[in-house]
Amino acid sequence: MGSSFHERVLQASIESGRLGSDRPLAAFLDTHRVARTIDALKSAFPSHFEHMFAAKANTMRRALERVKSLGMGCEVASPGELEQALRCGFTPREIVFDEPAKTMSVLKKVQETGVNLNIDNFQEFSRVVKLRDAARRDADIGFRINPQVGAGKIGAMSTATQSSKFGVALEDDGNREEIIRLYRDNPWLNSLHTHVGSQGCSQELMVAGVRKVTALAEEINAALGRHQVGVIDIGGGLPVNFSSDEDKPTFAEYAQALEAEIPVLFSGKYRVKTEFGRSVMAKSGFIASRVEYTKVSGGRCIAISHAGAQVATRTIFMPEYWKIRISAFGPDGAAKSGEPVEQDIAGPLCFAGDMAGTGRQLPLIEPGDYVVLHDTGAYYFSNPFFYNALPAPAVYGAEPGQDGSMQLDCWRRQQSMDDMLAVIG
Ligand SMILES: *Cc1c(COP(=O)(O)O)cnc(C)c1O
Repeated sequence: MGSSFHERVLQASIESGRLGSDRPLAAFLDTHRVARTIDALKSAFPSHFEHMFAAKANTMRRALERVKSLGMGCEVASPGELEQALRCGFTPREIVFDEPAKTMSVLKKVQETGVNLNIDNFQEFSRVVKLRDAARRDADIGFRINPQVGAGKIGAMSTATQSSKFGVALEDDGNREEIIRLYRDNPWLNSLHTHVGSQGCSQELMVAGVRKVTALAEEINAALGRHQVGVIDIGGGLPVNFSSDEDKPTFAEYAQALEAEIPVLFSGKYRVKTEFGRSVMAKSGFIASRVEYTKVSGGRCIAISHAGAQVATRTIFMPEYWKIRISAFGPDGAAKSGEPVEQDIAGPLCFAGDMAGTGRQLPLIEPGDYVVLHDTGAYYFSNPFFYNALPAPAVYGAEPGQDGSMQLDCWRRQQSMDDMLAVIG
């Protein structure tokens, strides 16, 4: 049997010293899989859809450059993400800016550079109006709407509840009328945006949110007697399957559900933008950590590795929602075989909850083995957390070369002690 992708990456990393006793932690992105995923996204939707990668899912320069080269735009939600997107070569027209707490200075920059803008609330709108004189006129600008369709499984990830902090609550008293009035009085408002939530939202909920915002666009255009709203930004939020290697749901399934319920989005009447993050990169990434020690405590087998909350923050703080697959490899990078034994996989941080997984059935892990945390290409190693002053690990783009060997391209060096301490302050 041939080696798996993970084995080949581990073997190449161990042989080249990128993983080992002094380099116990590293992260990898399967760049061919990212490309296949973006192809699947593009072919699921007609060509009047523009796909913006949600930069917060992986804000690394090389990740953004890669998605740009594969034909995506970029959705950014902070001054730092905006700067990174501009430095990565996205043109202002290829960027959409969403942030709940935009300062006057970032609004000025967004308008002067001509970056597309989703306005979160009426107070922000008055600031945007004040800055109109300096604005470039070719950007898409409009409101983010909270369609108030309800929550998915994860409260913290659900942005379309009755009282969500995001956008203008469409069903609250007077808001719908106020939106229509503002679009009538301000012909430069030409888009509408919604993002129902990330992970844990059902397809029905996402489609319901998009349907309401599309209906609002139709309502505004009908009320104004002109096709003023020409852009609908339907956000991201396609959930990722963390329980197997399968891509499920697929972009095609979501597109079919949208088309069945909201055919006008597929008619070409509107330019449509999407903002997928997790579903573009999660399944292409993994974290590998050397196991330092193993022990048995109170009858439980525990393997202590270097992958904890500094790289898998959500999984560790909310394990019930963010359980990820873990597998075990030997010191040479070959998948371990042997009778499965129930084991806990601990991280290195000094708090008891720092567990990447508990009660996992895996071949008995020994010191010097490696554990792999799967599906961590979005919102994991790209967003390190500096608890315990641990450095952010190296990240490599991994792809098989012409000669069949595994090419590991350094996307980010392991953070040096000085750089990490500079971040700590
Ligand atoms: C987080 C976010 C996204 C991306 O969500 P995913 O679940 O990663 O697809 C898109 N748009 C907005 C406004 C967001 O906040």
